[in-house]
Amino acid sequence: MAKRIGIMGGTFDPIHAGHLITAECVRAALGLTTVLFIPAAQPPHKQGRVVTPAQHRYVMTQLAACSNPHFRVSDIELRRQGPSYTIDTVRELQQIYPADTVFYFIIGADAINELATWHEVDALLTLCHFVTATRQGSELDVTGLTARFGAAGMAHIHPVATPQLEISSTAIRERVRAGLSIRYLVPQAVREYIEKEGLYL
Ligand code: ATP
Ligand code: MG
Repeated sequence: MAKRIGIMGGTFDPIHAGHLITAECVRAALGLTTVLFIPAAQPPHKQGRVVTPAQHRYVMTQLAACSNPHFRVSDIELRRQGPSYTIDTVRELQQIYPADTVFYFIIGADAINELATWHEVDALLTLCHFVTATRQGSELDVTGLTARFGAAGMAHIHPVATPQLEISSTAIRERVRAGLSIRYLVPQAVREYIEKEGLYL
């Protein structure tokens, strides 16, 4: 049977419980073999902000993922020059995995409604599926997405109900800076790494 691989792309600055719980729920719901966490080198959507050096984000993502046998971390975007476009990543993964592998790119509801702005999005939608984490499938802008991508595109966009977690990397960075606890918002090993390296102060 063809392998189904989940891809969770992000800045992961830092990775948090929202990412991990979403990835695990989608994996279980769709019967994915593996979820690949892929830290972005230079996020196309975040060129205004100074992002923590890739090495720290990569290590934290590994610390978070290593306790789940279905999770893997890929440095595929960190090894590439220039902005991290998902289409380049998916094309590269297609070279690595067997030809019948089906890729499911997991994104938050906030991001799916901006899909139209993504680089080469029409081609991207033919190469992989998108899974969007929503409470009841309701946050999806079905009308807007259908108008833009048509029925063929919509056949590659799948809402999956996941617990809604009001956690963001931005909030975690702000909490660290303010001296507030981030216990349980990130895995213990990630929290200890942030403390040891003095990140986000
Ligand atoms: P920042 O606050 O710096 O933007 P973030 O928390 O949004 O960080 P990203 O690395 O930007 O994290 O997100 C990577 C992916 O994870 C995106 O698809 C985003 O929609 C999704 N995501 C982020 N936070 C959550 C959450 N709490 N629940 C579900 N998905 C999330
Ligand atoms: Mg974000």
